Amino acid sequence: MKQIFAIFLLLCLILGGCTEDLAPAEREFFAMDTVINVKIWGDETALDAVYDLISADSALFSTYNDTSDIAKLNQDAFLVVRNETAELLQLAIHYSHETAGAFDPTVYPYIKSWRSANDAPPELTHLSDRIGFDKLVLDGNTASLKDRAMIDLGAITKGYCAQRAIDELIHRKVETAIISLGGNVQTLGSKPDGTAWAVGIANPEKPSEAITVVRFHGSMALVTSGTYQRYYEWNGKKYHHILDPQTGYPVENNLASVTVLCQDGTMADAFSTALFVMGYEKAIEFWQARKDFEVIFITKDGSIHATEGAAPLLTDCEFSIIQRIKTS
Ligand code: AMP
Ligand code: MG
Repeated sequence: MKQIFAIFLLLCLILGGCTEDLAPAEREFFAMDTVINVKIWGDETALDAVYDLISADSALFSTYNDTSDIAKLNQDAFLVVRNETAELLQLAIHYSHETAGAFDPTVYPYIKSWRSANDAPPELTHLSDRIGFDKLVLDGNTASLKDRAMIDLGAITKGYCAQRAIDELIHRKVETAIISLGGNVQTLGSKPDGTAWAVGIANPEKPSEAITVVRFHGSMALVTSGTYQRYYEWNGKKYHHILDPQTGYPVENNLASVTVLCQDGTMADAFSTALFVMGYEKAIEFWQARKDFEVIFITKDGSIHATEGAAPLLTDCEFSIIQRIKTS
């Protein structure tokens, strides 16, 4: 099997105008398969707290770590989990319902098959009885899995960890920070020098470059799900990592990436994955019905489609490639 693994960072640009006094304290480390960058204006010691929190959380939720709560739950189908895990599982169940199963953490048997496939894409139909978010049951801190189901929380873990880190910073009275975890960026407050946050959205065709830059002031979570972030390749054909829970195969539609902007990191992460699975039309219907988040779609033809609240924030691209999605 030729497995190509690629993670490209959502470009995080903090632009211009910083004087020495206004420069942030910064820490970079590796967790959850990605480079994590944290910048804090103010109490520098909060960097240690964020590092400790993200390191501990990611170890608790990883399916790669045999001693994690999630790995043990998958193995025994029953576990009394820690409070953080219970909260994340509760959110996973919540967003599975909200998205009618487009986000579904029980796709893990499919993911395992993809990971262990050798010369060709795996045969998956025999696994379908084990899939379905109703098989994950949480009662207080007691989690159980029915019908040999197994879960993977990779589609929301980074968003949840970013949100927990931001909550910790708020608790420590930090007013301004930015956390970047691969395709997830979350800001707290506005930059002291008055300039806007500037977060690049990766160009799916050339992920080290930004196709557009989102500029805004204040707190926001921005999470991108894209076909280019991770994929397998056999005989020149790419199979990306966002799976249709109905089939276990990569979702095929006209989307190359979906970026969700909202106030909550976990919600942005769950929705970016789910909206990708829904596809463009259903995702817009979902947005129309809620309006508590904004979306930027990059379609395979390289055009940018942005909801009404997101479109005015887009800079550094030709205006003509932006399609504005209006309220119905
Ligand atoms: P993200 O990059 O946040 O869109 O999450 C994608 C990751 O979540 C994949 O690498 C899988 O581990 C997992 N995953 C894939 N498809 C789904 C799905 N439909 N629902 C929930 N998790 C998924
Ligand atoms: Mg996600």
